[in-house]
Amino acid sequence: MSSICVYCSSSNAIADAYPPVAEALGQEMGRRGHELVYGGGAVGLMGVLAEAAHEAGGTVTGVIPSKLQSREGIAYDADELIVTDTMRERKRIMYQNADAFAVLPGGYGTLEEFMEVLTLKQLGYHDRPIAILNADGFYDTLFSFFEELRDGRFARAAATDLVEVVSSAEAALDRIERVAASDGQVT
Ligand code: AMP
Repeated sequence: MSSICVYCSSSNAIADAYPPVAEALGQEMGRRGHELVYGGGAVGLMGVLAEAAHEAGGTVTGVIPSKLQSREGIAYDADELIVTDTMRERKRIMYQNADAFAVLPGGYGTLEEFMEVLTLKQLGYHDRPIAILNADGFYDTLFSFFEELRDGRFARAAATDLVEVVSSAEAALDRIERVAASDGQVT
């Protein structure tokens, strides 16, 4: 069993294609016995993910800053809810509590979280798996920009050497579990 920190959209207004992706990941995590660590909100893909993980029997840990908690309410189905003073503190706790990371479609917040764990991995601060769930090619344009960064020597490593790009929830967890099995980092 692993603690997997998932970054994903807080928007309720995104296309209908995306909530089922979050639901599938939550269900599969619960089914395989992985703990979900996430941003704690009940909104957008975050809420769908947490509810699905909880209903599938998974442990859900939400980490939310008090400002967002009072604005939007919290995930009613979190087994543990950690309320922080700041976003920075929240990100630190999510990062520290994760054996692996998964990124679903999202906006600026998701990108910021993804870029942080990607940068830290590039610099060797951690070597944990990062799975990008590229549903419907959502992240194709970002990855082609990453190739430009690599070609122009702005990035040392190709992003695809640092992350696992997959197109389904099952594949994301398969990759995370395979990396764990090969280097013993994630149990
Ligand atoms: P975004 O992609 O801009 O919707 O931001 C979502 C990501 O940022 C999530 O992974 C959360 O960790 C964090 N986040 C942003 N907005 C919220 C919110 N309203 N409630 C909880 N977490 C949020």
